[in-house]
Amino acid sequence: MLNVPSQSFPGPSSQQRIASGGRSKVPLKQGRSLMDWIRLTKSGKDLTGLRGRLIEVTEEELKKHNKKDDCWICIRGFVYNVSPYMEYHPGGEDELMRAAGSDGTDLFDQVHRWVNYESMLKECLVGRMAMKPALPKGMLPQSQVTDTLAKEGPSSPSYDWFQTDSLVTIVIYTKQKDINLDSVIVDHRDDSFRAETVIKDYSYLVHVALSHEIQEDFSVLVVENVGKIEIILKKKENISWKCLGHPLENHNSFIPKKDTGLFYRKCQLVSKEDVTHDTKLFCLMLPPSTHLQVPVGQHVYLKLPITGTEIVKPYTPVSDSLFSEFKEPVLPNNIYIYFLIKIYPAGFFTPELDQLQIGDYISVSNPEGNFIISQLQELEDLFLLAAGTGFTPMVKVLNYALTNIPSLRKVKLMFFNKTEDDIIWRSQLEKLAFKDKRFEVEFVLSAPAYEWSGKQGYISPALLSEFLERSSDTSRVLICLCGPTPFTEQGMKMLHDLNFSKDEIHSFTA
Ligand code: FAD
Ligand code: NAD
Repeated sequence: MLNVPSQSFPGPSSQQRIASGGRSKVPLKQGRSLMDWIRLTKSGKDLTGLRGRLIEVTEEELKKHNKKDDCWICIRGFVYNVSPYMEYHPGGEDELMRAAGSDGTDLFDQVHRWVNYESMLKECLVGRMAMKPALPKGMLPQSQVTDTLAKEGPSSPSYDWFQTDSLVTIVIYTKQKDINLDSVIVDHRDDSFRAETVIKDYSYLVHVALSHEIQEDFSVLVVENVGKIEIILKKKENISWKCLGHPLENHNSFIPKKDTGLFYRKCQLVSKEDVTHDTKLFCLMLPPSTHLQVPVGQHVYLKLPITGTEIVKPYTPVSDSLFSEFKEPVLPNNIYIYFLIKIYPAGFFTPELDQLQIGDYISVSNPEGNFIISQLQELEDLFLLAAGTGFTPMVKVLNYALTNIPSLRKVKLMFFNKTEDDIIWRSQLEKLAFKDKRFEVEFVLSAPAYEWSGKQGYISPALLSEFLERSSDTSRVLICLCGPTPFTEQGMKMLHDLNFSKDEIHSFTA
């Protein structure tokens, strides 16, 4: 059952209110929570003023609707009347008014590309933007993409395919060297074959309806030094294919990642284990015919329908344990994704997540995030400052650094929690520190029991200056931070005051 608090929901620290990057947050009036908004959208009230009609909107028309009580905004070609939503917007009315009467796609993408506005604002849809008149014959429209790429982006990838009696191989030439198995995400579902390759901040898409049926399993190979990706499909019937298939939406496009929508696939919950009194380890299984590996330091979005509206929240996959990277992989492909998730009884999303039964499905997006693995290369000292579930991105960073960075001399984790009972994977962390002499862990509690003899309090300059001791004056250092927004913001400021450079700090945010 959905747990809906009566007042002041979401709470002051809620992610429903807190936008990424420390944006200003605005206290919502009573009765203006996300749940109240969903109720209003289901009430049958005419929210567009068009009595259910959808219209074609010209630029001139859009411009006219630029006042609070008559505010239209275009996002990705669709126009919404957002006036009824003004008081419910967690970022405040002024923020929304910045896009009044105009195309708000870029503004929207800067702040919350992942918010599922199509579902949240579906009752506010006015219609589509009218197409611009066609260009005179002979003139090719110059796309914005080509324009941007010519100036600053990587060169455009291409693809090809070939076949034997039993196999079809799709080859993607990325023209980049720093690609690996994380760089390509493949989803084959019914009639759609989709391979998205992420190259720096761009996305290259092969998206086709295959001309013939294939078997469920396929393999993905990467030839790193030439930047080539091979996806090897097994034919169902040994017949010769005349073509690969017919193109689907955005096939063969190469566009900035921020301009692509998030792609989701349905994953099945296969296990759920208690880790602390309120945090659980969820294991999701990817659907067959999927290749998806979440890169170290990146998160995904989980999507669930809650009272008929699709709600999306970010979560950072972890390994199944702190020791799993040292084990031989049991299966050739990673088909499981693990999450450590804290259930907030008064939260909006997590109580619903907790209601999922083994075998139920939940949608998982493609990975996002700005942590780059090369930040760990040639590192000597790695310091991890984690608070509460802010520990989650540290799990893979820690595993990766200890296993793959030969230059590494020490890794220190300072883990901030309220009480001892809140510490995630405490015994694993202590075992790891015992096993690997490069690793040390220190727990700091903000609301300890009387008997606690360890460190206490919130993040502070005193705690940090004692903790952040370099192994030598010139050692290459990285400090990673993650936790509640005030923790991360205060921590960042303290680190700057302690003279660590921007390159030496990475804070995890949405
Ligand atoms: P919300 O509704 O957002 O509520 C959050 C807080 O507000 C809770 O303390 C709740 O008790 C309180 N609250 C709600 N209603 C009230 C009220 N009426 N009065 C007072 N207080 C109230 N979380 C994880 O557990 N694991 C992860 O791996 C993880 N990864 C993340 C990655 C990123 C990039 C980001 C930005 C966040 C991540 N989070 C993670 C947090 C996660 O996205 C959600 O914010 C979190 O699960 C809370 O969601 P919710 O809807 O259940 O709670
Ligand atoms: P919590 O409330 O249990 O607090 C854990 C510790 O954070 C506290 O003991 C304290 O030391 C510190 N803290 C809390 N409030 C503080 C404040 N106002 N000032 C200074 N320090 C403070 O934490 P939680 O409920 O586990 O929440 C974890 C947070 O981490 C959530 O906000 C979540 O969104 C965030 N998170 C972000 C990412 C990411 O951005 N990649 C990933 C995971 C979690």
